[in-house]
Amino acid sequence: MHRRRFTSLTGTVLVGLALPYRSRAAAFFTPRGRQAPRVDGPRLLRRLQELSRFGRNAAGGIDRVAFSDADIQAREWLKDLMRDAGLQVVTDEAGNLVGRRGGTDTSGPPIVLGSHVDSVPNGGTYDGQVGLMGMLEVATTLDDAGISTRHPLEFVVFTNEEDGKTGSRALAGEVDPSEMSLPTASGYTVGEGLRRVGGDPDHLERARRPPGSIAAFLELHVEQGGVLDAAHIDIGVVEGIVGIERWNVRVLGRANHAGTTPMDQRHDALVAASRFVDAVYRTARDGAGGQVATVGRITVEPGAPNVIPGLAILSLEIRDLTMEGIDSLFEQLSKRAAGIGDDTGTTFSFERFYVSDAAPSDPRIRDAVEASAHELGLSTLRLPSGAGHDAQSMARLGPVGMIFVPSIGGISHSPEERTAPDDIVHGADVLLSTLLTLDAGAIDR
Ligand SMILES: [Zn+2]
Repeated sequence: MHRRRFTSLTGTVLVGLALPYRSRAAAFFTPRGRQAPRVDGPRLLRRLQELSRFGRNAAGGIDRVAFSDADIQAREWLKDLMRDAGLQVVTDEAGNLVGRRGGTDTSGPPIVLGSHVDSVPNGGTYDGQVGLMGMLEVATTLDDAGISTRHPLEFVVFTNEEDGKTGSRALAGEVDPSEMSLPTASGYTVGEGLRRVGGDPDHLERARRPPGSIAAFLELHVEQGGVLDAAHIDIGVVEGIVGIERWNVRVLGRANHAGTTPMDQRHDALVAASRFVDAVYRTARDGAGGQVATVGRITVEPGAPNVIPGLAILSLEIRDLTMEGIDSLFEQLSKRAAGIGDDTGTTFSFERFYVSDAAPSDPRIRDAVEASAHELGLSTLRLPSGAGHDAQSMARLGPVGMIFVPSIGGISHSPEERTAPDDIVHGADVLLSTLLTLDAGAIDR
């Protein structure tokens, strides 16, 4: 049955067959009078509930880490749902589940929707899952309504988002073979795990897709922060995923006797470090833009009550929507550090040890998300994503966009995470409407 369905979708007869079913589409009239299809909210919420049985622990949280039995069982259930929505389902070498649907223009690149089914250890029932069931609801709605798109569509369930974005990074060709031996929370290595979910760690390069191979990528996700909830906004239009840089900062002073060294003769590394911590906070807070900066770790040597600290080692992390923004803040902080060093008789040195590139969303997709939300009567706010997502890897292949729905109280990666049912349905409606807007040409301009 499934195969026959797919055949009819890929054939040229599709458009003709589809027309009589159009009237079955759940429809509503926008303020401008344009008719837009809507998802089936109760079905979406029911399926989200059904998904939560995979990996539910005694405390009510979700243990569905990548490559675990729960991950595999959920994937099997998802495959059936995808086939029921008329998708042709394959598992690629990176273990990504890919559901394909033909377009009327068979030669062009696909519009891709994606999300993840794996959770953090003792996670909740919304992270990844709202986007996942939202995108499958979009697939089912298109199928039920007999709506054909110009672009081919792909609905992708990415592998191991939470512990390294293995699936999406493999599509971008960014997974190093050495990662295959890394342990994961499932108890299996990444390589063993990929085999368990039907991937092929020896031929990951076959999963790779070249830049330009997608027309667009769209991801619906819970915000995981509290901005939308606090502002009572329905839909977050994601400006992009922030870049991250981290440094080890060494503050070198001179260890000396805490009793015999007068206060004006000290080179106290911890005093200098403290002033630097405050400077990091104030400089990031007072600058224009959404940058954040954090000192999350500090060690002091020799670390005795009766010795003036001779060395302090701090971590410095800066996140911003652009790498230029990170560079600019770092430059300001270096200058501040030099000044503090002069004042305190210490020297600062910085060693960068981590870089994760920023992935801005495409302005055309931001506009399409915003317009879709407004046509549905929903309020929007533009905001960056402070957390990493698969969209970051997909940005290597083509234009990306993300839609956020509110996380109640900003709680995430916890059994306590929640998103209101209406917000979930709104998110899926915006995902569907944005997809159709992009398909109609918004991404071709
Ligand atoms: Zn997620």
